[in-house]
Amino acid sequence: MKWEENVRRVVPYTAGEQPQGRNIIKLNTNENPYPPAPGVARRAKELEEDRMRLYPAFSEKSALAVALADHYGISPDRIFIGDGSDDVLSLAFLTFFQSGRPILFPDVTYSFYPVWADLYRIPYRCMPLDEDFRIRTQDYLPQEGGVRCGGVVFPNPNAPTGIWMPLEEVEKIVAANQDVVVIVDEAYIDFGGVSCLPLIDRYDNLLVVQTFSKSRSMAGMRIGYAMGSPALIKYINDVKYSVNSYAMNYAALELGVEAVKDRAYFAAGCDKIVRTRERAEKELTRLGFTFPKSYANFIFASHNKVPAKEIFERLKENDIYVRYWDKERINNHLRITIGTDEQMDALYRALEHIVKVS
Ligand SMILES: *Cc1c(COP(=O)(O)O)cnc(C)c1O
Repeated sequence: MKWEENVRRVVPYTAGEQPQGRNIIKLNTNENPYPPAPGVARRAKELEEDRMRLYPAFSEKSALAVALADHYGISPDRIFIGDGSDDVLSLAFLTFFQSGRPILFPDVTYSFYPVWADLYRIPYRCMPLDEDFRIRTQDYLPQEGGVRCGGVVFPNPNAPTGIWMPLEEVEKIVAANQDVVVIVDEAYIDFGGVSCLPLIDRYDNLLVVQTFSKSRSMAGMRIGYAMGSPALIKYINDVKYSVNSYAMNYAALELGVEAVKDRAYFAAGCDKIVRTRERAEKELTRLGFTFPKSYANFIFASHNKVPAKEIFERLKENDIYVRYWDKERINNHLRITIGTDEQMDALYRALEHIVKVS
């Protein structure tokens, strides 16, 4: 067909499977196994028809931006909110990576980054992690032999490794690249890492991106946000308002506030995941797995005898879904989301059969 010559062609990101069914144990997309804060369900029942009829609040004036600003002790003009952090990251790529020089991100990382780069025609270079799957900070320091680039993006903790980079290292990268924007994707920061958010006071080129999808149990509501200097936030808002003036819907704006307000529930929920992860470290070690220390709600594990692909397939036969990538460097690893203790017990029982430890 002639018109196909004029189509923008992209290879889309493939998210983990969303199998339907009651008895499935879903440990493949890093969703939170617990419900959101109780105030969220209460508020959901009170959503007003009349507000559905109207366009929602502008993001910087919304109760959600105000609640987040209050939670983090920053002014609302340092907050950008969007339809899940995927939307926030995508708009940040579109806004900030315009130099024509390649942007940098790790070779093993969130596989959405190359998709956005291709979509927006942004050149990029993947910097290899070291043998222990650590980000090599020096690769991102142009003054020390690293690459002079058009921007940097990496998750901290990194996905799918779960490895967290200490603040001093993050700061080195931000400080060494002040002529471009550095995006730190903190989707998993609430499970034991320390956020680099305080650095936004000193570096106006740093954008910190977070999400309600993991630690706040609201993946289905699609709420993400970014924090940075007022100048960065203004530029990304200009682009966002050039695509859609109201990216967030009324329900998400209202319900997100309830999740942010309940600090005690949030802290207890993250703590519960961390404790289950600590148990998982022991159980998986007993079963013959090795993995880097995780600061996220998943563990990136490799077995000493049985190939990851085989374990992945056999678990699936047992209705237990974990994530596997048939990709260079990581094709003998499984990313296992931390579920409830009951779900994890079922996983260990299934693994005992598959890897046959007696
Ligand atoms: C889950 C995830 C996101 C996106 O989450 P949203 O649901 O779009 O908020 C972004 N970055 C990383 C590294 C993730 O794992």
